[in-house]
Amino acid sequence: MKIIKPIDLNKFLKNNKEKDVEENKTLTDISEKIKEAQNIAIFTHESPDGDAIGSTLSVYLALKQIGKEAKMYIPEYSRLFNFLPGASEIKNKLDDEEFDLAISVDCANLKRLVGKEYFENAKETIVIDHHESNDMYGDINYVDSAAPACAQILVSILQYYNVEITQELGTTLLTGIITDTGGFKHQGITPETFEFAAELLRKGVDVSTLYSKVLETRTRANFELSKRVSERMEFLEDGKIAFTYITKQDEIETNAEPGDHEGLVEIARSIEGVEVSVFIRQRDDEEYYKVSMRSKNNINVSDICYLFGGGGHIRAAGCLIKGDVEKVKEKIIKETKKAFQ
Ligand code: AMP
Ligand code: MN
Ligand code: MN
Repeated sequence: MKIIKPIDLNKFLKNNKEKDVEENKTLTDISEKIKEAQNIAIFTHESPDGDAIGSTLSVYLALKQIGKEAKMYIPEYSRLFNFLPGASEIKNKLDDEEFDLAISVDCANLKRLVGKEYFENAKETIVIDHHESNDMYGDINYVDSAAPACAQILVSILQYYNVEITQELGTTLLTGIITDTGGFKHQGITPETFEFAAELLRKGVDVSTLYSKVLETRTRANFELSKRVSERMEFLEDGKIAFTYITKQDEIETNAEPGDHEGLVEIARSIEGVEVSVFIRQRDDEEYYKVSMRSKNNINVSDICYLFGGGGHIRAAGCLIKGDVEKVKEKIIKETKKAFQ
């Protein structure tokens, strides 16, 4: 019988020696900045997903544990995340204030950061992220594009600092991991992803209920929108590309709230033969469409979105394009087709 060695959960950091020295220095710098700061704020990307919210709450709870109060600024997010520990402390407004330290989580660039004006005015800034396209906009940048979720990077950081992963922290960290990995199933998950979930189970975190709350609960409006998205789905390039959309009008008619478009881009990814799913959603300003792309295998959708000033990960990325449905579709599909050549 094969003997399975016990898991060394303290060894989340990579083994590469040189990288370790570099990483440890960054982590020491981060810890120094946190110790010095009196006035800390945490920020994340627009249209925040589970990883954005889970990572924000995790940093907040970890700081609280070491005796540091911080402000979290997320003006709009899905009410489905309101049950998470610390969520009632999220601010939807900040006063005219200046921070000693601003921490950004799960956000690739300043353009997408909500509260960027506060971030830019802060004395020190730290960026913690896992986007391939991160442009290192902080004074200190801790970016690991191999991590499947920003929250998973936080797990290793918190372990490095010996912060106790309480049930609350376990819940917020796992929310980020579950949502960004599509429930432990996307490419990019690592053994650590499961090791961490296993450890939380041992600690008594109700992983199954959390999974169902953050991944398997949808609002009525999201369901109504998904019907429209399915009806309008077009298949191009022999079914390799799926395209669909929603307009502002659709959101009004379905009484959509913030976050109700989440997951709509995933619908086409599960259809046989579809390699790339393209979903566009009209923004509130009605001038631009937010493009969301997902790929199943080898097409790098981050590269495609980068052409339009966006980015993301190889198999999940986004960008903004100006115009109406037809115009935006033409632009994004043209570049997507090229990726298959
Ligand atoms: P979404 O389609 O909005 O779920 O985004 C997919 C992935 O791409 C997420 O990891 C986003 O953070 C990232 N992303 C989306 N839009 C942009 C953008 N305009 N610039 C950079 N990254 C983006
Ligand atoms: Mn995110
Ligand atoms: Mn993420």
